[in-house]
Amino acid sequence: MKTITILKNNRGSSIVFFTIILTVILGFAALTIDFGVIAYEKFRLTSSVDAASLAGAQELVANTGYTKEVAESYIYKNIQNVKNVVVSVDSSSRMLQVSSEKTVDNYFAKIFGKNSQDISAVSKARVENIKSLKGARPLAIVQQTFTYGKMYTLKEGGGDGTTGNYAAIALGGTGGSIYRNNLLNGYSGTITVNDVIPTETGNIAGTTVTSINELLGNCNHIPACTYQSYNKYCSKIIFLPVVNTLTVNGRKHIKVLGFATFFLEGVTSMGGQADVIGRFITYCMEGETSTTINDYGTYGIRLIK
Ligand SMILES: [Zn+2]
Repeated sequence: MKTITILKNNRGSSIVFFTIILTVILGFAALTIDFGVIAYEKFRLTSSVDAASLAGAQELVANTGYTKEVAESYIYKNIQNVKNVVVSVDSSSRMLQVSSEKTVDNYFAKIFGKNSQDISAVSKARVENIKSLKGARPLAIVQQTFTYGKMYTLKEGGGDGTTGNYAAIALGGTGGSIYRNNLLNGYSGTITVNDVIPTETGNIAGTTVTSINELLGNCNHIPACTYQSYNKYCSKIIFLPVVNTLTVNGRKHIKVLGFATFFLEGVTSMGGQADVIGRFITYCMEGETSTTINDYGTYGIRLIK
């Protein structure tokens, strides 16, 4: 009889022990699943806040008045039940901070009385000057204060041909076919501020006229692009190196100080010379950025938080 009692007691304590273990295991499993959900939601919120600050910062360059609106719409579009969305804009330092929160429901931790958790994310983006870029066209422009929307002569203007230079530059080699390819497609290599690049001698008028006309004709966007409203990748948008001087004799090296973006308006040919005309615009693009170089209106956006 005594033996049976012991057995019974053992079975009873086994059940209690098993129940405790099961509760602990379930508890851990529950927490693991909830942790997973929280981590996923946190990742989504962080990504959306980053995307919002990057998009908002683009407007700081183009359309400051819309900065806040654009950033907010990014978050509301991507995340449901988001709350406390705060967008603070610092136009003078061209910075933007976006923060938001979300309450995430727990699935299993509810068993332990914890129904939800609050998560939050902050992102800060800054507009900086582009320091190096790919796709520059083989025309240089002398450093100056550029005015948005103003027409500039992008070839011939600099040296006026008197020194044998017509503002053309040799990127990745010299000669007409390389020049033509660079003008049509942009130089495939990277140019960085402080690089020295050789001038391309001669006025290369014929190649310039046909290539620029081809670029002008390649804009098939409807409505047709203008300098105020354009497709970001339109063939009429070109990036030029801003250089220290174009008043050099023959093939000389000139120094890159930054980059300026122009919207092509036309090309004229008179007396064997070609003048390329474009309006100065501000533009955001991919590339290495810097806060210590001069501002020539071509920017990159960097997340700093
Ligand atoms: Zn276009």
